[in-house]
Amino acid sequence: MFKFSADKSLLANKTILVTGANTGIGKAAAIAYGQHGANVILLGRNTESLESCYDEMTRAGCPEPAIYTLDLLSTEEQHYFDLRDAIGKEFGKLDGLLHNASLLSDRKPIAQQNWQQWQDVMQVNVNSAFLLCKTLMPLFEEAETASILLTSSSVGRKGRAFWGSYAVSKFATEGLMQVMADELENTSNIRVNSINPGATNTAMRRAAYPGEAPDNNPTAEQIMPLYLFLMSDESKALTGTISDAQKDIPPQKMLN
Ligand code: NDP
Repeated sequence: MFKFSADKSLLANKTILVTGANTGIGKAAAIAYGQHGANVILLGRNTESLESCYDEMTRAGCPEPAIYTLDLLSTEEQHYFDLRDAIGKEFGKLDGLLHNASLLSDRKPIAQQNWQQWQDVMQVNVNSAFLLCKTLMPLFEEAETASILLTSSSVGRKGRAFWGSYAVSKFATEGLMQVMADELENTSNIRVNSINPGATNTAMRRAAYPGEAPDNNPTAEQIMPLYLFLMSDESKALTGTISDAQKDIPPQKMLN
């Protein structure tokens, strides 16, 4: 496991948007960021479960989070401009984005992949990452330093049979991370990194591996040290890196 010991004020005064904040890793990250002082914007498609995350955060003494309900599958570009305007009005800047929401595809050979499902996976996992980064850029520019974290997977670094659109979408995620990191490295205080949570006991993992004992994998809460490190100024020298939340090795630079 990546080791990082964080002060409770690590993310004080930072505003951080987390997608898929209603459950699993996204929820654990939203709570961890709030517990370290951040103003967290909880984005997801299910208002009820976002409200339950909100309740947990307020009970835990986090700064009051904001809720933004958005279904990333049915969004148009204008929805992202609306999101930008809402965040700009409330907070004036954005110090961090954790794009965590993802759809898993059926594990089938490419020849049997469903075209509609392919497009849905690309829409949630890739197009929304592009549109979030593109439209929110003026808000990142308003922050003293900003950290964009995109969520990858081991199948986004080495192709694996039957992982179809999900695996391809994670390769695209790594590509988007590298392109943006290279563009922004010398011209801004915005950094872009990717994170592979590794096998974690969430609904997605249980759906992907129904024969696996869920408790053999760490909980989402246990993998938070790397999520905190990469979101904080403690990692401000890092951009264009890949990293694994469950390996105790520093993020690795991908760009020369
Ligand atoms: P979960 O299935 O628990 O969470 C996925 C999140 O994505 C949910 O909040 C889900 O919302 C959200 N989401 C899916 N579709 C949409 C949509 N159309 N609009 C808005 N939100 C949407 O999985 P994890 O917590 O495990 O996954 C988090 C990230 O980690 C993902 O990017 C995943 O690919 C990655 N990952 C996870 C691994 C693991 O072992 N768990 C391993 C490698 C990578 P809803 O609840 O409404 O469906």
